[in-house]
Amino acid sequence: MKRTHHCNELRPSHIGQTVTLAGWVHSRRDLGGLIFIDVRDREGRTQTVFDPSDLPKDVFERASSLRSESVILVTGKVRQRPQGTNNPKIATGEVEVMAQNLEVLNHAEVLPFPVDDPEVASKVNEELRLQYRYLDLRRPEMARNLRLRSKVATATRVFLDGEGFLEVETPLLFKSTPEGAREFLVPNRREAGTFYALPQSPQQFKQILMVAGVERYFQLARCFRDEDLRADRQPEFTQVDLEMSFIDREDIYRLIEGLLKQVWKTALNVDIPTPFRRISFEEALNRYGIDKPDTRFAMEIVDFTEEFRSSSFKVFSGAVANGGVVKALNAKGMADATQGQIETMTEYAKSFGAKGLAFIKVEKGEWKSPIVKFFTEAEKQALTSKLGIEEGDLILFAADQWLNACEILGRIRLYCADVLKGKGKLNIPADQFNFLWVVEFPLLSFDKEQNRWYSSHHPFTAPVHEDIPLLKSDPRKVRGQHYDIVVNGVELGGGSIRIHQPEVQKIIFEEILQIPADMVQARFGYMLNAFKYGAPPHGGIALGFDRMIAILCGTPSIRDVIAFPKTAKGTDLMTESPAPVEPKQLRELHLELRVPKKEAPKPEV
Ligand code: ASP
Repeated sequence: MKRTHHCNELRPSHIGQTVTLAGWVHSRRDLGGLIFIDVRDREGRTQTVFDPSDLPKDVFERASSLRSESVILVTGKVRQRPQGTNNPKIATGEVEVMAQNLEVLNHAEVLPFPVDDPEVASKVNEELRLQYRYLDLRRPEMARNLRLRSKVATATRVFLDGEGFLEVETPLLFKSTPEGAREFLVPNRREAGTFYALPQSPQQFKQILMVAGVERYFQLARCFRDEDLRADRQPEFTQVDLEMSFIDREDIYRLIEGLLKQVWKTALNVDIPTPFRRISFEEALNRYGIDKPDTRFAMEIVDFTEEFRSSSFKVFSGAVANGGVVKALNAKGMADATQGQIETMTEYAKSFGAKGLAFIKVEKGEWKSPIVKFFTEAEKQALTSKLGIEEGDLILFAADQWLNACEILGRIRLYCADVLKGKGKLNIPADQFNFLWVVEFPLLSFDKEQNRWYSSHHPFTAPVHEDIPLLKSDPRKVRGQHYDIVVNGVELGGGSIRIHQPEVQKIIFEEILQIPADMVQARFGYMLNAFKYGAPPHGGIALGFDRMIAILCGTPSIRDVIAFPKTAKGTDLMTESPAPVEPKQLRELHLELRVPKKEAPKPEV
């Protein structure tokens, strides 16, 4: 079963050589008595030709009975394709192999979907693709994704090794320390009623590795979060996770900029400019209405709080009187927005608690909107000059508390960009990558329902040094030493400089997050203890590896870059997991089930 060449190797220089190819029957065509079989392997494909006048009958018959995706070994002579039959679309398109022998290594049954036609395959229902993932992965587009993933993983390892990092594996059987996403639990057979938990990230272990003197740790780490899956999430995923001692934020920025530069060069041969732009959380919200701004287009949000503070339009002045703000954005060229589009945007505003959405369409030299009659000349003048209003524009407003007003317009900004893209009025080149650091996040956010503070990032993030005195007096004002790396509106990763003093960590847990002292001891006691024995100052970051690969592959779905992903319901359709287990297994685990009645199955993906 030895091949002499792979299926993307033969060129005119091989003409006259006898070769053996092995692979899958990509396609078979019967033409004028000849049979043409494209043999495909991981590298590409090559055309082979079976001529009945030249071959023993049984060989020809075997060739004519072959189904797509059967596995074959073809031996023959390389020749120049006849004039006019070259196929410029494939690298081997100038030559073909005149078959002399054919061995069928395995027959394939009729396929559930074709793998040879990217156009047809891209329309195949994703559930079917996931059920027959081994066929789906044979598609050259998917094979390319896996290959790129592997290349980037290697480039990452090489780069970090060069920077002095040690790759250290941390346990998957961890302990439940809920403070963030819901965890997957693993029952412990050896002691009834105790559980391991799968790690949401190696956060605590990597910090302990710093206490252990490792200084520079990294890992391509599997992480598990039992969340209701939003469109582009997976219950298990991979992070490029790292941690360093004796550093500050600047060291992380430099390191990650170097890593991403290397990765983009390796994967796409693109030189990304460094250093990346930095923007504070507050500025990102003010200008783009989101903490992961897509800066490939402007359409920035503009503040009009002062201009409308004493406006006779009470919706605006009332919001300001209530401690809120007035903000607006100009969706250039969108005055022709349909009723449906306006309704969609109004729904976005309402989903943030707004009563409605104020807007102005600028058409035929007129400002069309019921609210314009309330505006003074000065207010109109301010809008015109600060928003650069012209014929054809659509102006959208939010008057609300600061964060809400920003987020409403942030959501609408992205929607308008999509609409304008669809109309060809906004053009974003596919190879444009706008990286930026978002910095100076608030350390804490307030949960109104539970009436308590929670960590914006995680409880190990250090406050900005000069803000520590505010921790007890004005927690809202405390900034965290947290940073996110964003590209084209996607959060690629985040991290922070950590708290390394046990007393500060204890204040955060007990006084700020109000976790009872005995619970802190039970969950994090080992960590607080470790920090008593000489913890170096340290910090780190984790990049979403799946998401990074999806961006590099230009696919919107991380499922396309994971070999065996799960559906939105967390199932693996190929292995049919999760699945029930035997009563004996449950008994061994000291578990009893109370399973609610089954609902009718819904579509999966
Ligand atoms: N463990 C964090 C996360 O998964 C990243 C970090 O702080 O390094 O988001």
